[in-house]
Amino acid sequence: MKKGTQLYEGKAKKVFLTDDNDLVIQEFKDDATAFNNKKKGTIADKGVVNNAISCKLFTMLEEHGIRTHLVEKLSDREMLCRHLDIIKVEVVARNIAAGSLVKRYGFAEGTVLENPIIELYLKDDDLDDPLMNESHAVALGVATFEELFVLKNCAAEINVVLKQFFAERKLKLVDFKLEFGRHKGEILLGDEISPDTCRFWDLETNEKLDKDRFRFDLGGVENAYSEVQKRVLGLD
Ligand code: UDP
Repeated sequence: MKKGTQLYEGKAKKVFLTDDNDLVIQEFKDDATAFNNKKKGTIADKGVVNNAISCKLFTMLEEHGIRTHLVEKLSDREMLCRHLDIIKVEVVARNIAAGSLVKRYGFAEGTVLENPIIELYLKDDDLDDPLMNESHAVALGVATFEELFVLKNCAAEINVVLKQFFAERKLKLVDFKLEFGRHKGEILLGDEISPDTCRFWDLETNEKLDKDRFRFDLGGVENAYSEVQKRVLGLD
């Protein structure tokens, strides 16, 4: 597999073309941003950790019948992926109130949501990723009603699998964000699943083990990421 020209550089990853039109290489960086780029920094070895966690989780989800863009882990920071036409919708699933849910609706942080909440956001940095419903998404032309139905159902299904997986590893899956794309007539899960895109709280202490440590300068950012990696990969 030959790594070709860079197709795209995002906040946490670069994407490269390969000599196969159907495949791209996703390279994970240590750069960290929060609050739509207003806060910037680096988290040592984050790229290595997030690649390892994402590859493990995508593999596990595939074993549960969920189709993802993962082909294989190529190196510490590189993931070989199916080339997706990314759907400009961020799907957020929530099990416990935190972050924007607390700010927007006044939930007390930590409130357990009896029914998980699934939300759609427009993937558009210039507009600050606004919350939207299906009609907005369709009017904007970013997806069809049928595709949005698939996305929401898939997110709910992934939530069930991930919640159980993390509970077995003594982590509460508070909330997380997913991105999907089109590939040869199918919708596949794309992007990454990592402490950058999820909130994890320790099952016993409620200690935050995710990007909130970076967002709110809580310290121990690297330790939190490597703790999640240890629990996900089952390392000692
Ligand atoms: N999230 C993300 N990228 C985004 C927005 C949110 O990965 O652009 C994740 C975030 O890490 C959290 C979940 O989605 O796990 C819900 O985020 P929320 O809406 O609470 O927004 P935030 O507090 O991150 O601004």
